[in-house]
Amino acid sequence: MCILNKNIFILTGAGISKESGIETFREKDGLWDNYKIEDVCTVEAFNKDPDYVNNFYNERKRKLQNPKISPNNAHISLAKLEANCKRNFLLVTQNIDNLHERAGSKKILHMHGSLEKIYCMYCKHSEIFNFELSSKYVCKNCKNVGMVRIDVVWFGEQPKYLDKIYSFLENTEVFISIGTSNNVYPAAGFIDFLLQTGKKIIFYEFNIETTNKSSLFDKNFIGPASKTVPGFVDRIIKSK
Ligand code: NAD
Repeated sequence: MCILNKNIFILTGAGISKESGIETFREKDGLWDNYKIEDVCTVEAFNKDPDYVNNFYNERKRKLQNPKISPNNAHISLAKLEANCKRNFLLVTQNIDNLHERAGSKKILHMHGSLEKIYCMYCKHSEIFNFELSSKYVCKNCKNVGMVRIDVVWFGEQPKYLDKIYSFLENTEVFISIGTSNNVYPAAGFIDFLLQTGKKIIFYEFNIETTNKSSLFDKNFIGPASKTVPGFVDRIIKSK
């Protein structure tokens, strides 16, 4: 049966945005080569030097706004897959960029947060922003200074939307992982969760190389996502 008649869960990671010009974290020449995780992705780092952390995210956001950075054919194909899916569809991304939305994806959850939003650590007020983050920023709601931070999940923090994600996984019939090293939990454990259900589920992985979870998938599409994903989606849509 065509997968368009099944409940589809897509998991994406930094690899899908790489061909759009956004660095991954763990690969050689990735972001971690220039920054230490503990200096930019922890609450401790923010408390110690908030503007160092703010500037790291200002830099990420500026890069995303560069007109040269745009969704690639993998992002665009996933929006097409969503539009053609006749059952339930959910795209969960570990990425904090907005390239899926810009490609037209609608049913999407950013489990590690997003560069689009900030929130106040004091009153939890959250808002979409489009300015340079600074420790001098005054929260619009509670008027505290220096409590507003990027709405991105840092190390030691709980990823977002886990209830919604696991509830969708309960009924997932097709699981597709794209451009993720499958090293960062809990996302890396989604496939284990599904395998443990014992249900008949189709597993596809798209990556430029094999990962330490590759053997768990029914099929591995090795190559750049901007080529492998559109080919796959077009074949599925043609065969419907
Ligand atoms: P990762 O850096 O650990 O792994 C990236 C994976 O993508 C690797 O397995 C690599 O082989 C693969 N890859 C690289 N180029 C590819 C291509 N052209 N086509 C297909 N696959 C390709 O990334 P991760 O698994 O997403 O986990 C890292 C964490 O870093 C996530 O939490 C994410 O939030 C964060 N991150 C996000 C962004 C972003 O928003 N674009 C960028 C860097 C890191």
